[in-house]
Amino acid sequence: MTILESPLDPRAAVYDYVLPAGESWLHPIRKGQIFRILDLEGNQAVDTLFYSAAHPEERYSATDTIRRQGNLYLTAGSALISSEGNVLLTLVADTCGRHDTLGGACAAESNSVRYALDKKYMHNCRDSFLLAIGHADCGLTKRDLASNINFFMNVPVTLDGRLTFADGISAPGKYVEMRAEMDVMALISNCPQLNNPCNAYHPTPVRLLIWDPQ
Ligand SMILES: [Zn+2]
Repeated sequence: MTILESPLDPRAAVYDYVLPAGESWLHPIRKGQIFRILDLEGNQAVDTLFYSAAHPEERYSATDTIRRQGNLYLTAGSALISSEGNVLLTLVADTCGRHDTLGGACAAESNSVRYALDKKYMHNCRDSFLLAIGHADCGLTKRDLASNINFFMNVPVTLDGRLTFADGISAPGKYVEMRAEMDVMALISNCPQLNNPCNAYHPTPVRLLIWDPQ
């Protein structure tokens, strides 16, 4: 776990937006820009995917990222690897210390299997992703929704290899920051989940900031 603070001043950001709980966000980040996700109230899960802006079929790949760094968790120093083996972004600061690569996004199907059949119709991340790409002329479709990053989410793996959804280790004001190594599109679902203890059953907003290259 690596705790590394950023020297960047939010007043110098070229983009500064508070994404409400449960909302989605699709936005370009140009090569060299720095992108920060700030957990305003703590333990919010921020389901995130990245695509090459020039060739959206090239996307964030969890398996390539995990294999390249030899570790399941993301923190400062992690490189987010694409399905073509290129670096999309590099994590340059992190005050939370650990982010999940395995838990995936909540969906109508997983909500009904994990919790109860009548949870199927609740708002979920997969529907948020689909809504965001459906309303944008970005060339992305359902088949482009691969395994995502869960920023701020704590999904420890036990000694015998089991996944556990544990209480969060994030807190109000913690952030993760990354530098785009190519022009990318970021797709976020600020998770609306109401059935999972990782966010204390209470989804909250996050703040998204972008700085131009220094
Ligand atoms: Zn979710």
